[in-house]
Amino acid sequence: MAKVHNWQLGREMDYRFPEVHPDRQFVAVFNINRCIACQTCTFACKSTWTYSRGQELMWWNNVETKPYGGYPHHWDIKLLQLLNDANPGGQTWDASTQSDDAPYGEFKGMTIFEAGAAEGKDSAIGYLPTEEDWTSPNFYEDTAKGNPGVPNEYHPEGAQLPEHNTWFFYLQRICNHCTYPGCVSACPRNAIYKRPEDGIVLIDQERCRGYQKCVEQCPYKKSMYRPNQQVSEKCIGCYPRVEGSDPITDGVPMETRCVATCVGKIRLQGLVDIQDGEWVEAPTNPLYYLVRKEQVALPLYPQFGTEPNVYYIPPRWVPREYLRQLFGPGVDQAIDRYTNPSRELQAVLQLFRSTQKIIFRYEIEEGEEIMDTEVNGRRVQIFNDTIIGFDGNDQEAVRISVEEPFHIRNGEFAGQFQNSI
Ligand code: SF4
Ligand code: SF4
Ligand code: SF4
Repeated sequence: MAKVHNWQLGREMDYRFPEVHPDRQFVAVFNINRCIACQTCTFACKSTWTYSRGQELMWWNNVETKPYGGYPHHWDIKLLQLLNDANPGGQTWDASTQSDDAPYGEFKGMTIFEAGAAEGKDSAIGYLPTEEDWTSPNFYEDTAKGNPGVPNEYHPEGAQLPEHNTWFFYLQRICNHCTYPGCVSACPRNAIYKRPEDGIVLIDQERCRGYQKCVEQCPYKKSMYRPNQQVSEKCIGCYPRVEGSDPITDGVPMETRCVATCVGKIRLQGLVDIQDGEWVEAPTNPLYYLVRKEQVALPLYPQFGTEPNVYYIPPRWVPREYLRQLFGPGVDQAIDRYTNPSRELQAVLQLFRSTQKIIFRYEIEEGEEIMDTEVNGRRVQIFNDTIIGFDGNDQEAVRISVEEPFHIRNGEFAGQFQNSI
């Protein structure tokens, strides 16, 4: 195995191939706090890419209810168990070494690749879900974690921030277009590759022979087998849209289907520049700002070691111990910054679902103060700033203010548009 640098782990790790990085990387941020589980994203993907025979159990985008739900069933519990079996009690972080280059400190445990190496393999540990595991993609929907030790009962002390006693939340999942993909390192045919222009991970359908090693070794279970074609398939990052070949945006890069259709306005997707394997500093690229500068958005299960490129703003009502297992030691800081947002963060959060064009940079025009109050003993000031997003041609794509404008219809429409129900 080669040694590669994984910034999310704050250290080098073993990987089957030496480091090779794209010029730009596909990145998305999902704000869990705002998801309403409408599944519009899920069906936007399904109706675009996986509506054909043989793809019946295939949901490249899914939204599952945590802690009990999962597609395929219990995928993450099984992975955590495998890692704990390989390194009992050792899956810990040293958060004291946090720095700009290692924002979550250093992971002291074993990644899926290191656990594989410990077994004498040159690839990762994993498992192959059964067909049953791929059915009922939304099982345990809206099922809460309630009174400990008492099934089907809410906690008697109710729910109150900062951590609810009875809780659940929705986890939105697509392929993470990982920097060190488990699917790529697993494939004996070298049929999976990462595109140099945007880091999107694709399976070459001509080379694939359906061995399902990628299905086994993707820790997120986002590579899926299509039995009638005898090949594996996965999320393609809607690459024609990201390339800018969709006529709607006149040639400028456009967000993916699952992102652009999000009803809850929880998703933002874009591209960050990569140089020498590192994110090029770009404080006004909204993805760079949210992940690397403000650090309110965190990777899912960074300890798996694939350096996933989808990031989550964690749900603020969920017990922190559970969240630290999912998102690492950055959880407390991320929730604190999200619940007490800086002036800049308040503006950047307005960009979610404001345009279908990928926003490459933003500018902020300062507005007047519209609120000065105290929440939970802390001063909260809100300013009606305006944020302007610029597209791939550096042209203005969107202009939106923190305070939503209030429009009053004039009298000429009175009585014309009545509710038909
Ligand atoms: S469309 Fe948006 S709000 Fe609806 S389920 Fe998907 S991520 Fe959540
Ligand atoms: S999430 Fe899975 S399928 Fe997607 S790039 Fe990472 S390892 Fe591969
Ligand atoms: S990026 Fe495109 S292909 Fe991937 S899950 Fe979203 S809609 Fe589906």
